[in-house]
Amino acid sequence: GCGICVHKCPFNAITIVNLPEQLEEDCVHRYGINGFVLYRLPVIKEGMVVGILGPNGIGKTTAVKILAGQLIPNLCGDNDNWDNVIKAFRGNELQNYFEKLKNKEIKPVVKPQYVDLIPKVVKGKVRDLLKRADERGLFDKVVKELELESILDREIQQLSGGELQSVAIAAAVLRDADFYFFDEPSSYLDIRQRLKAARLIRRLAEEGKSVLAVEHDLAVLDYLSDIIHVVYGKPGAYGIFSMPKGTRVGINIFLDGYLPDENVRFRPYEIRFTKLSERKSQAGDVLVEYPSLVKDYGSFRLEAEGGELYRGEVVGIVGPNGIGKTTFVKMLAGVEEPTEGKVEWELKVSYKPQYIKADYEGTVFELLSKIDASKLMSSFYKTELLNPLGIPELYDRPVNELSGGELQRVAITACLLRDADLYLLDEPSAYLDVEQRLAVSRAIRHLMEKNEKTALVVEHDVLMIDYISDRLIVFEGEPGKFGKATKPMGMREGMNRFLASVGITFRRDPDTGRPRANKEGSVKDREQKERGEYYYVD
Ligand code: ADP
Ligand code: ADP
Ligand code: MG
Repeated sequence: GCGICVHKCPFNAITIVNLPEQLEEDCVHRYGINGFVLYRLPVIKEGMVVGILGPNGIGKTTAVKILAGQLIPNLCGDNDNWDNVIKAFRGNELQNYFEKLKNKEIKPVVKPQYVDLIPKVVKGKVRDLLKRADERGLFDKVVKELELESILDREIQQLSGGELQSVAIAAAVLRDADFYFFDEPSSYLDIRQRLKAARLIRRLAEEGKSVLAVEHDLAVLDYLSDIIHVVYGKPGAYGIFSMPKGTRVGINIFLDGYLPDENVRFRPYEIRFTKLSERKSQAGDVLVEYPSLVKDYGSFRLEAEGGELYRGEVVGIVGPNGIGKTTFVKMLAGVEEPTEGKVEWELKVSYKPQYIKADYEGTVFELLSKIDASKLMSSFYKTELLNPLGIPELYDRPVNELSGGELQRVAITACLLRDADLYLLDEPSAYLDVEQRLAVSRAIRHLMEKNEKTALVVEHDVLMIDYISDRLIVFEGEPGKFGKATKPMGMREGMNRFLASVGITFRRDPDTGRPRANKEGSVKDREQKERGEYYYVD
């Protein structure tokens, strides 16, 4: 029943209300007769980081393959040579670029999206991998900047997700290329590492290189990009690159769901962030009081303060990598025994681990049916969880063939379908696009509120923390050596404490309410640090 919609996409409820006029002229590539169609391409500018903001399956990688010279676009017909492409882009900023590409004068380098796959194809020590990549003689500098010294002699096979990500970024930066593409550089990194990686990538542009980056952490994208393309359409069917926008404006357009200059509404609603003061300060009754806990691994020690959890609330867990967040969650889940203190409760706990395995033989539907078949049929769960996360589309797919982002959504769904009092989700946003992160956040909030359950969510994406949390547990200490966890505290106090330990200040965007990282040393940054207000005061 949507009269004016050209396409209605149940996934994330993205609805294209209208398409730009004369779009067909801008058709760049079509995969087969009924295959995915890509309209327009991003600009490539020397000395600039061009950010790309759009959902998974919208054609970002296809665009990059074209720009990297790996795929000659068929111009939605039967074209098979670069000369026609150059002709088609005459008068466009890309004409010159395609000429160079044709003459093989462009060397591209790509940091792939799924860093978990790297150990399957690359063996050996980190040092050897990075030495081989070091075409610019920057080994020492980059290793220092990304704090890789302590893992140089480790085997690639032994690295954690965050370590793999840092190594992959380092390997790309060390190459001597003209065009650098970073596909989701922030997955598994903590906020400090994200901003360090962003600075390193920005440096490439300052040296005159052309850089393209896909990033779903909006605070990082904001920090990273000089200009932005919003990509919209219907994932899996077609994707359209917007004209380039200024970074702030581009992100706000994305949140608005409306492109004013092209008069296109690509989402039927705006995304807004509510002020902290407008949130309920404390949820319902106390669910449980948990004791102080200690875990001592010998080389690493975690001390966690005891606290109370309320029914109906979501508690965010923040802190750097290697500080004991996963260890804490595992103790609450009963997976890991505390060295001191006891988790003695009658609560049912449902836990989504940080690193998820796809070793289940069977389809998504079979997996989820085994957990709770009746909830798959319930209209409440369809509305609040299954449809917003795009799960029904995955029902027939074998679990062991899912992509990283698909597997993440299935694992989150499996966790939330289980009957429990306490839900523990360790880094649910890895490999999800912005819409999916918000859909997951909304689903977790609604399910906890409506079912009067409690969730603890470990998360690095500041927008998601801001969106999802009623209160925060903050982890401090020295990564890899010792960690201390606070009891749950209010958002303002918690955010201040967390950001002070990272040394980053945030302000709110006046139009959308989204958190924006202040540039280090800017007037706002210095003012806020002086006042001890690292997070905005509403
Ligand atoms: P993104 O990078 O935004 O996630 P991609 O460019 O990888 O998106 O893919 C966009 C769409 O094109 C997807 O629906 C994908 O299934 C389809 N696609 C990608 N490569 C091919 C191919 N070689 N043949 C047919 N379809 C493809
Ligand atoms: P986070 O989730 O904050 O990144 P973790 O809880 O995963 O941190 O790890 C904290 C520290 O404890 C790390 O230095 C890690 O190497 C160490 N660690 C985790 N599990 C074990 C274990 N089973 N044995 C020894 N050390 C461990
Ligand atoms: Mg962890």
